[in-house]
Amino acid sequence: MIVPKEMIEKYKQQGYHFIGNAAVVKPCHWLKASLLSKGEKHCYKQKFYGIPSHRCLQMSPTITCTQQCLYCWRVQESDLKINQSEKVELKYEDPEKIVLKSILKQRQILSGLKGNKKVDRLMLEEAFRPIHAAISLVGEPTMYPWIGELISAFFSHGFKTVFLVTNGTMPNILSKLETEPSQLYVSLSAPNEEIYRKVCRPKIKDGWKRLHETLELLHSFSCPTVIRITLVKKLNMCNAEEYAKIISKAEPTYVEPKAAMSLGGFRWRLPTNYMPKFEEVKQFGKKIADYCGYKIIDESLNSRIVLLSRLERAIKLI
Ligand code: SF4
Repeated sequence: MIVPKEMIEKYKQQGYHFIGNAAVVKPCHWLKASLLSKGEKHCYKQKFYGIPSHRCLQMSPTITCTQQCLYCWRVQESDLKINQSEKVELKYEDPEKIVLKSILKQRQILSGLKGNKKVDRLMLEEAFRPIHAAISLVGEPTMYPWIGELISAFFSHGFKTVFLVTNGTMPNILSKLETEPSQLYVSLSAPNEEIYRKVCRPKIKDGWKRLHETLELLHSFSCPTVIRITLVKKLNMCNAEEYAKIISKAEPTYVEPKAAMSLGGFRWRLPTNYMPKFEEVKQFGKKIADYCGYKIIDESLNSRIVLLSRLERAIKLI
C-alpha cells in the first residue's frame, strides 16, 4: 500500500504516534480527562460496558481505509494539496511488535502526567498497564493482514477486552477471523446505498454490498455485536425506518446511534453545525428503536450517544 509522504506528516502533526509507518496510537480525550478528574469523567464505554477509560489503549494497525467518510477524523488524500510525487510504501509491523510498542508509546505519552497533583498516583500506575484495546482509531483495521493475530496478541499480553471496529467492507476477512474480539462493531453510516455513497465515499465499487455481507455475518459471532450509526445532520439523519429494517435483519446485540464529532478531518469537510446535539441523537435513536423493537437502555450526554438493545441492560465486560 502506497500513500503520500505528506499524509504521514499530517498525522504526526495531529498527535498520532506511529509504530513503523502504518500503525498508530493516540490516547483519546477521555483517558486524560479520567486521570485529571480522578475518575469523575469518563467515556461512554465505561458507563455502558464497564471499560475503565484510564486503562484504554486506542490504536489502529493501519491508517489506510476503503472509504473516505465525510465525517471522519482521519486525514484523507482529498483533504490535502499533496505533492503526489513523494510516496511512501506502508510496511505492516507484526502483531507482537504492535502490541508491545503500543503499550510503550502509551506510557511515554502519559509520563508527562507524573507529578501532576490533579492525577491520582494509583490511577496513573494503572493507566501504564492498559487492559482494554480499542482497535478503532483511524483507518480500516481489517485491511491489516494479521488482524486475528493482533486481537490474540492483545489477549496474550493480559488485555481483558479488545474491541474491533470495522466499516464492514472486508467480509472475507471477518468470516475467517481466528480470534473473536470481546465486542465487534460494524459502522452503518447510511440507511441506503445512495446516502452511503454520498457520506462514506467508498474507494471500492461494491462497498454497500460488502457491508451487507458483513452484517449477515453478525449472527455467526459469539461475542456481543454492535451496529454503530454515526449521525451527521443534513446527511444521514433520515429514513429511520430503513435503518431499522437493516438492524432487524442483522440482529446486533446493541445499536449505538452517536453524533459525529467535529474533530480532525471533519472540520475540513463539514460545517460544525452538522454535528447533532445529544437531544437530536436521542430522538432519532428512539425512532429507529421503535421501528425495530429495540429500546433505549442507556445514554451518555457527553459522548452524545444512546444505547439501543433488546436486552434490559448492557453486559458489563470488566
Ligand atoms: S470507515 Fe472509519 S476510518 Fe474509514 S473513512 Fe470512514 S470513518 Fe474514517
